[in-house]
Amino acid sequence: MPLRIGVLDGDGIGPEIVPVAVDIATAAATHADLDVEWVPLAMGRSAIDTLGDPLPPATLDALDDLDCWILGPHDSAGYPDQFRGQLTPGAVIRKRYGLYSNLRPARVYPGVPSVSGAIDLLIVRENSEGLYADRNMAVGSGEFMPTPDVALAVGVITRAASERIARVAFEQARRRKKHVTVVHKANVLTMTTGLFRAACYDVAGDYPDVTVDEEHVDAMAALLVRRAGDFDVLVTENLFGDILSDLAAELAGSLGLAASINTSDCKAMAQAAHGAAPDIAGRDCANPVALIESTAMLFDWWAQQFDDDRGRDLAATIRAALTATLDAGEMTPDLGGSTGTAEFGRLIRTRIGAR
Ligand code: ATP
Ligand code: MG
Repeated sequence: MPLRIGVLDGDGIGPEIVPVAVDIATAAATHADLDVEWVPLAMGRSAIDTLGDPLPPATLDALDDLDCWILGPHDSAGYPDQFRGQLTPGAVIRKRYGLYSNLRPARVYPGVPSVSGAIDLLIVRENSEGLYADRNMAVGSGEFMPTPDVALAVGVITRAASERIARVAFEQARRRKKHVTVVHKANVLTMTTGLFRAACYDVAGDYPDVTVDEEHVDAMAALLVRRAGDFDVLVTENLFGDILSDLAAELAGSLGLAASINTSDCKAMAQAAHGAAPDIAGRDCANPVALIESTAMLFDWWAQQFDDDRGRDLAATIRAALTATLDAGEMTPDLGGSTGTAEFGRLIRTRIGAR
Protein backbone atom coordinates (compact mmCIF):
# COMPACT_ATOMS: atom_id res chain seq x y z
CA MET A 1 0.00 0.00 0.00
CA PRO A 2 1.50 3.35 -0.97
CA LEU A 3 1.67 6.22 1.50
CA ARG A 4 -1.04 8.57 0.19
CA ILE A 5 -0.43 12.31 0.71
CA GLY A 6 -2.92 15.03 -0.24
CA VAL A 7 -1.65 18.05 -2.21
CA LEU A 8 -3.55 21.35 -2.12
CA ASP A 9 -1.71 23.93 -4.24
CA GLY A 10 -3.68 27.00 -3.11
CA ASP A 11 -3.22 30.60 -4.27
CA GLY A 12 -0.52 33.14 -5.07
CA ILE A 13 2.91 31.48 -5.01
CA GLY A 14 1.30 28.15 -3.96
CA PRO A 15 1.18 26.65 -7.48
CA GLU A 16 4.90 27.53 -7.84
CA ILE A 17 6.28 26.23 -4.53
CA VAL A 18 4.04 23.21 -3.84
CA PRO A 19 5.04 21.30 -7.02
CA VAL A 20 8.73 21.97 -6.21
CA ALA A 21 8.33 20.40 -2.75
CA VAL A 22 6.42 17.44 -4.22
CA ASP A 23 9.04 16.84 -6.95
CA ILE A 24 11.87 16.84 -4.41
CA ALA A 25 10.01 14.50 -2.06
CA THR A 26 9.25 12.19 -4.98
CA ALA A 27 12.96 11.92 -5.79
CA ALA A 28 13.78 11.32 -2.11
CA ALA A 29 11.05 8.67 -1.80
CA THR A 30 12.67 6.64 -4.57
CA HIS A 31 15.91 6.65 -2.55
CA ALA A 32 14.15 5.64 0.66
CA ASP A 33 12.31 2.86 -1.20
CA LEU A 34 9.00 4.31 -0.08
CA ASP A 35 6.01 4.19 -2.40
CA VAL A 36 4.28 7.58 -2.17
CA GLU A 37 1.07 8.44 -3.99
CA TRP A 38 0.29 12.17 -4.27
CA VAL A 39 -3.42 13.00 -4.27
CA PRO A 40 -4.17 16.40 -5.87
CA LEU A 41 -7.11 18.18 -4.21
CA ALA A 42 -8.88 21.42 -5.16
CA MET A 43 -8.50 24.42 -2.82
CA GLY A 44 -8.42 28.20 -3.23
CA ARG A 45 -9.20 30.57 -6.07
CA SER A 46 -9.00 27.88 -8.76
CA ALA A 47 -11.51 25.77 -6.79
CA ILE A 48 -13.87 28.77 -6.67
CA ASP A 49 -13.56 29.16 -10.45
CA THR A 50 -14.16 25.49 -11.24
CA LEU A 51 -16.36 24.25 -8.37
CA GLY A 52 -17.75 27.44 -6.80
CA ASP A 53 -16.14 26.83 -3.40
CA PRO A 54 -12.60 27.56 -2.07
CA LEU A 55 -12.78 24.31 -0.09
CA PRO A 56 -15.14 21.96 -1.99
CA PRO A 57 -16.87 19.10 -0.12
CA ALA A 58 -15.01 16.57 -2.32
CA THR A 59 -11.70 17.89 -0.93
CA LEU A 60 -12.86 17.47 2.66
CA ASP A 61 -14.20 13.96 1.89
CA ALA A 62 -10.78 13.03 0.51
CA LEU A 63 -8.94 14.51 3.52
CA ASP A 64 -11.17 12.42 5.84
CA ASP A 65 -9.48 9.32 4.40
CA LEU A 66 -5.89 10.63 4.45
CA ASP A 67 -3.41 10.74 7.36
CA CYS A 68 -1.46 13.70 6.02
CA TRP A 69 -1.31 16.36 3.34
CA ILE A 70 0.46 19.49 2.10
CA LEU A 71 -1.55 22.70 2.24
CA GLY A 72 -0.40 25.51 -0.04
CA PRO A 73 -1.04 29.12 1.03
CA HIS A 74 -4.40 30.76 0.38
CA ASP A 75 -5.13 34.39 -0.35
CA SER A 76 -8.67 34.58 1.02
CA ALA A 77 -8.52 38.40 1.08
CA GLY A 78 -8.67 38.19 -2.73
CA TYR A 79 -11.78 35.94 -2.92
CA PRO A 80 -15.11 37.28 -4.24
CA ASP A 81 -17.32 39.09 -1.71
CA GLN A 82 -19.63 36.14 -1.07
CA PHE A 83 -16.73 34.25 0.57
CA ARG A 84 -15.68 37.12 2.81
CA GLY A 85 -16.35 36.66 6.50
CA GLN A 86 -16.18 32.88 6.15
CA LEU A 87 -13.49 30.84 7.82
CA THR A 88 -10.48 30.50 5.54
CA PRO A 89 -9.78 27.05 4.02
CA GLY A 90 -6.83 26.58 6.39
CA ALA A 91 -8.95 27.44 9.44
CA VAL A 92 -11.75 25.08 8.37
CA ILE A 93 -9.26 22.24 7.97
CA ARG A 94 -7.50 22.97 11.29
CA LYS A 95 -10.83 22.90 13.14
CA ARG A 96 -12.30 19.89 11.34
CA TYR A 97 -9.29 17.70 12.18
CA GLY A 98 -8.45 19.28 15.54
CA LEU A 99 -4.91 20.23 14.46
CA TYR A 100 -4.03 21.77 17.82
CA SER A 101 -0.26 21.80 17.55
CA ASN A 102 1.75 24.01 15.22
CA LEU A 103 5.51 23.37 15.11
CA ARG A 104 7.46 26.22 13.56
CA PRO A 105 11.24 25.75 13.39
CA ALA A 106 13.61 28.63 12.63
CA ARG A 107 17.22 27.91 11.84
CA VAL A 108 20.12 29.43 10.01
CA TYR A 109 21.23 27.42 6.99
CA PRO A 110 24.93 27.25 6.06
CA GLY A 111 25.68 29.79 3.36
CA VAL A 112 22.53 31.83 3.97
CA PRO A 113 23.07 35.33 5.34
CA SER A 114 21.17 35.58 8.63
CA VAL A 115 20.24 38.85 10.28
CA SER A 116 21.34 37.73 13.74
CA GLY A 117 23.85 34.95 14.28
CA ALA A 118 23.17 31.34 15.13
CA ILE A 119 19.50 30.39 15.36
CA ASP A 120 18.16 26.89 15.90
CA LEU A 121 14.75 27.24 17.48
CA LEU A 122 11.47 25.40 17.52
CA ILE A 123 8.40 27.50 18.25
CA VAL A 124 5.56 25.32 19.53
CA ARG A 125 2.38 27.29 18.93
CA GLU A 126 -1.00 26.41 20.41
CA ASN A 127 -3.19 26.37 17.32
CA SER A 128 -6.80 26.40 18.52
CA GLU A 129 -7.28 29.06 21.20
CA GLY A 130 -6.27 32.58 22.27
CA LEU A 131 -7.56 35.64 20.44
CA TYR A 132 -7.58 33.66 17.18
CA ALA A 133 -10.21 31.19 18.44
CA ASP A 134 -13.27 31.13 16.17
CA ARG A 135 -12.14 34.17 14.23
CA ASN A 136 -14.12 35.33 11.17
CA MET A 137 -17.20 33.36 12.14
CA ALA A 138 -20.55 35.10 11.62
CA VAL A 139 -22.00 33.20 14.59
CA GLY A 140 -20.11 32.61 17.82
CA SER A 141 -17.39 35.01 16.73
CA GLY A 142 -14.48 35.80 19.01
CA GLU A 143 -14.83 39.39 17.81
CA PHE A 144 -17.89 41.61 17.95
CA MET A 145 -18.97 45.25 17.86
CA PRO A 146 -21.57 46.30 20.45
CA THR A 147 -21.73 49.70 18.70
CA PRO A 148 -20.21 50.84 15.38
CA ASP A 149 -17.47 52.58 17.38
CA VAL A 150 -16.49 49.83 19.82
CA ALA A 151 -14.92 46.50 18.88
CA LEU A 152 -14.23 43.67 21.33
CA ALA A 153 -12.29 40.43 21.00
CA VAL A 154 -12.53 37.48 23.36
CA GLY A 155 -9.49 35.31 23.92
CA VAL A 156 -9.88 31.75 25.15
CA ILE A 157 -7.29 29.79 27.12
CA THR A 158 -8.13 26.43 28.69
CA ARG A 159 -6.05 24.30 31.02
CA ALA A 160 -6.63 21.21 28.87
CA ALA A 161 -5.39 22.79 25.63
CA SER A 162 -2.45 24.44 27.41
CA GLU A 163 -1.32 21.17 29.02
CA ARG A 164 -1.74 19.36 25.69
CA ILE A 165 0.53 21.79 23.82
CA ALA A 166 3.02 21.87 26.72
CA ARG A 167 3.42 18.09 26.39
CA VAL A 168 4.20 18.50 22.70
CA ALA A 169 6.86 21.10 23.57
CA PHE A 170 8.54 18.96 26.25
CA GLU A 171 8.52 15.88 24.02
CA GLN A 172 10.13 17.91 21.22
CA ALA A 173 12.71 19.34 23.65
CA ARG A 174 13.72 15.80 24.67
CA ARG A 175 14.78 15.21 21.07
CA ARG A 176 16.62 18.55 20.90
CA LYS A 177 18.61 20.62 23.45
CA LYS A 178 16.28 19.81 26.38
CA HIS A 179 15.32 23.41 27.10
CA VAL A 180 11.77 24.81 27.05
CA THR A 181 10.97 28.50 27.43
CA VAL A 182 7.35 29.32 28.29
CA VAL A 183 6.40 32.58 26.55
CA HIS A 184 3.47 34.49 28.05
CA LYS A 185 2.36 37.91 29.29
CA ALA A 186 1.12 36.89 32.71
CA ASN A 187 2.04 40.24 34.30
CA VAL A 188 -0.77 41.90 32.29
CA LEU A 189 -2.98 39.11 30.92
CA THR A 190 -2.92 37.44 34.31
CA MET A 191 -5.87 35.08 33.95
CA THR A 192 -5.50 33.92 30.35
CA THR A 193 -1.76 33.73 29.79
CA GLY A 194 -1.35 33.16 33.54
CA LEU A 195 -3.33 29.93 33.16
CA PHE A 196 -1.24 28.99 30.14
CA ARG A 197 1.95 29.56 32.13
CA ALA A 198 0.71 27.55 35.14
CA ALA A 199 -0.34 24.63 32.92
CA CYS A 200 3.09 24.55 31.25
CA TYR A 201 4.86 24.47 34.63
CA ASP A 202 2.55 21.65 35.81
CA VAL A 203 3.53 19.58 32.78
CA ALA A 204 7.22 20.46 33.31
CA GLY A 205 7.07 18.34 36.49
CA ASP A 206 6.81 15.23 34.29
CA TYR A 207 10.00 16.18 32.42
CA PRO A 208 12.74 16.60 35.06
CA ASP A 209 15.37 16.04 32.34
CA VAL A 210 14.24 19.21 30.50
CA THR A 211 15.21 22.70 31.71
CA VAL A 212 12.26 25.09 31.86
CA ASP A 213 12.28 28.88 32.08
CA GLU A 214 9.98 31.69 30.98
CA GLU A 215 9.91 35.07 29.22
CA HIS A 216 7.30 37.74 28.64
CA VAL A 217 6.44 37.88 24.97
CA ASP A 218 7.71 41.45 24.49
CA ALA A 219 11.05 40.62 26.13
CA MET A 220 11.20 37.43 24.05
CA ALA A 221 10.86 39.46 20.83
CA ALA A 222 13.78 41.65 21.90
CA LEU A 223 15.92 38.69 23.03
CA LEU A 224 15.42 36.90 19.71
CA VAL A 225 17.19 39.67 17.83
CA ARG A 226 20.58 39.23 19.53
CA ARG A 227 20.36 36.12 21.70
CA ALA A 228 18.25 33.66 19.72
CA GLY A 229 21.08 31.14 20.09
CA ASP A 230 20.37 30.88 23.84
CA PHE A 231 16.98 29.27 23.22
CA ASP A 232 15.76 25.86 22.06
CA VAL A 233 11.99 25.25 22.25
CA LEU A 234 9.57 28.13 22.83
CA VAL A 235 6.02 27.18 23.80
CA THR A 236 3.35 29.82 23.54
CA GLU A 237 -0.28 30.65 22.77
CA ASN A 238 -1.69 31.16 19.30
CA LEU A 239 -1.21 34.87 18.53
CA PHE A 240 2.19 35.19 20.25
CA GLY A 241 3.39 32.12 18.35
CA ASP A 242 2.23 33.54 15.03
CA ILE A 243 4.12 36.79 15.54
CA LEU A 244 7.30 35.32 17.07
CA SER A 245 7.63 32.74 14.30
CA ASP A 246 7.56 35.39 11.54
CA LEU A 247 10.20 37.32 13.49
CA ALA A 248 12.39 34.26 14.00
CA ALA A 249 12.13 33.23 10.34
CA GLU A 250 13.08 36.67 9.09
CA LEU A 251 16.00 36.84 11.55
CA ALA A 252 17.18 33.51 10.15
CA GLY A 253 17.17 35.01 6.66
CA SER A 254 13.67 35.27 5.20
CA LEU A 255 10.00 34.60 5.73
CA GLY A 256 10.52 32.23 2.81
CA LEU A 257 12.32 29.87 5.26
CA ALA A 258 9.34 29.69 7.65
CA ALA A 259 8.36 26.01 7.72
CA SER A 260 5.56 24.51 9.79
CA ILE A 261 3.54 21.41 10.48
CA ASN A 262 0.08 21.28 12.09
CA THR A 263 -0.86 18.10 13.91
CA SER A 264 -3.51 16.37 15.98
CA ASP A 265 -2.88 12.99 17.58
CA CYS A 266 -3.60 11.23 14.25
CA LYS A 267 -3.39 13.70 11.33
CA ALA A 268 -0.73 16.07 10.04
CA MET A 269 -0.66 18.99 7.62
CA ALA A 270 2.51 20.55 6.22
CA GLN A 271 2.03 24.28 5.60
CA ALA A 272 4.52 27.11 5.12
CA ALA A 273 4.13 29.69 7.88
CA HIS A 274 4.19 32.49 5.32
CA GLY A 275 1.23 33.54 3.20
CA ALA A 276 0.39 33.43 -0.52
CA ALA A 277 2.67 36.43 -1.26
CA PRO A 278 0.47 37.71 -4.15
CA ASP A 279 2.96 40.56 -4.69
CA ILE A 280 5.55 38.15 -6.13
CA ALA A 281 3.29 35.41 -7.55
CA GLY A 282 3.90 34.21 -11.11
CA ARG A 283 7.45 35.61 -11.30
CA ASP A 284 9.40 32.42 -10.54
CA CYS A 285 11.16 34.09 -7.62
CA ALA A 286 9.30 32.69 -4.56
CA ASN A 287 11.42 30.84 -2.03
CA PRO A 288 10.22 27.22 -1.75
CA VAL A 289 12.46 26.37 1.25
CA ALA A 290 9.65 26.76 3.83
CA LEU A 291 7.45 24.31 1.99
CA ILE A 292 10.30 21.87 1.29
CA GLU A 293 11.24 21.79 5.00
CA SER A 294 7.55 21.54 5.97
CA THR A 295 7.30 18.48 3.71
CA ALA A 296 10.39 16.96 5.36
CA MET A 297 8.69 17.53 8.74
CA LEU A 298 5.62 15.70 7.42
CA PHE A 299 7.73 12.62 6.69
CA ASP A 300 9.36 12.85 10.15
CA TRP A 301 5.87 12.91 11.65
CA TRP A 302 4.80 9.93 9.55
CA ALA A 303 7.92 7.98 10.58
CA GLN A 304 7.16 8.63 14.25
CA GLN A 305 3.44 7.95 13.92
CA PHE A 306 3.79 4.66 12.03
CA ASP A 307 7.19 3.63 13.40
CA ASP A 308 8.74 3.44 9.94
CA ASP A 309 12.35 4.64 9.57
CA ARG A 310 11.94 5.18 5.84
CA GLY A 311 10.10 8.44 6.60
CA ARG A 312 13.09 9.66 8.60
CA ASP A 313 15.52 8.63 5.85
CA LEU A 314 13.44 10.46 3.30
CA ALA A 315 13.32 13.64 5.41
CA ALA A 316 17.10 13.45 5.96
CA THR A 317 17.68 13.05 2.21
CA ILE A 318 15.57 16.14 1.48
CA ARG A 319 17.36 18.20 4.14
CA ALA A 320 20.86 17.14 3.05
CA ALA A 321 20.20 18.12 -0.57
CA LEU A 322 18.48 21.37 0.45
CA THR A 323 21.31 22.39 2.77
CA ALA A 324 24.03 21.54 0.24
CA THR A 325 22.26 23.52 -2.47
CA LEU A 326 21.97 26.62 -0.28
CA ASP A 327 25.57 26.20 0.89
CA ALA A 328 26.65 26.17 -2.77
CA GLY A 329 25.24 29.70 -3.06
CA GLU A 330 22.11 28.75 -4.98
CA MET A 331 19.22 30.68 -3.46
CA THR A 332 16.20 32.79 -4.35
CA PRO A 333 16.25 36.62 -4.44
CA ASP A 334 14.72 37.06 -0.94
CA LEU A 335 17.95 35.50 0.42
CA GLY A 336 20.14 37.65 -1.82
CA GLY A 337 20.53 35.05 -4.58
CA SER A 338 19.42 34.98 -8.20
CA THR A 339 18.16 31.41 -8.62
CA GLY A 340 14.55 31.04 -9.76
CA THR A 341 12.02 28.88 -7.89
CA ALA A 342 11.88 26.10 -10.48
CA GLU A 343 15.66 26.03 -11.05
CA PHE A 344 16.31 25.89 -7.30
CA GLY A 345 14.00 22.87 -7.09
CA ARG A 346 15.70 21.22 -10.06
CA LEU A 347 19.14 21.65 -8.45
CA ILE A 348 17.95 19.94 -5.26
CA ARG A 349 16.36 17.12 -7.22
CA THR A 350 19.57 16.62 -9.19
CA ARG A 351 21.57 16.33 -5.96
CA ILE A 352 19.20 13.67 -4.68
CA GLY A 353 19.43 11.82 -7.99
CA ALA A 354 23.23 12.00 -7.87
CA ARG A 355 23.54 10.38 -4.45
P1 ATP B 1 -0.98 35.81 5.62
O1 ATP B 1 -2.01 36.65 6.29
O2 ATP B 1 -1.53 34.78 4.70
O3 ATP B 1 0.04 35.27 6.59
P2 ATP B 1 0.76 38.01 5.03
O4 ATP B 1 0.04 39.29 4.85
O5 ATP B 1 1.41 37.73 6.34
O6 ATP B 1 -0.20 36.80 4.64
P3 ATP B 1 2.76 36.95 3.21
O7 ATP B 1 2.03 36.39 2.07
O8 ATP B 1 3.32 35.99 4.19
O9 ATP B 1 1.85 38.04 3.91
O10 ATP B 1 3.91 37.87 2.65
C1 ATP B 1 4.60 38.85 3.41
C2 ATP B 1 5.82 39.33 2.62
O11 ATP B 1 6.81 38.30 2.60
C3 ATP B 1 5.49 39.65 1.16
O12 ATP B 1 6.14 40.81 0.74
C4 ATP B 1 5.99 38.46 0.40
O13 ATP B 1 6.43 38.76 -0.89
C5 ATP B 1 7.14 37.92 1.28
N1 ATP B 1 7.18 36.44 1.19
C6 ATP B 1 6.33 35.59 1.81
N2 ATP B 1 6.61 34.32 1.48
C7 ATP B 1 7.68 34.35 0.65
C8 ATP B 1 8.44 33.36 -0.04
N3 ATP B 1 8.18 32.04 0.07
N4 ATP B 1 9.46 33.76 -0.82
C9 ATP B 1 9.76 35.07 -0.94
N5 ATP B 1 9.09 36.05 -0.32
C10 ATP B 1 8.05 35.72 0.47
MG1 MG C 1 1.38 36.25 7.92
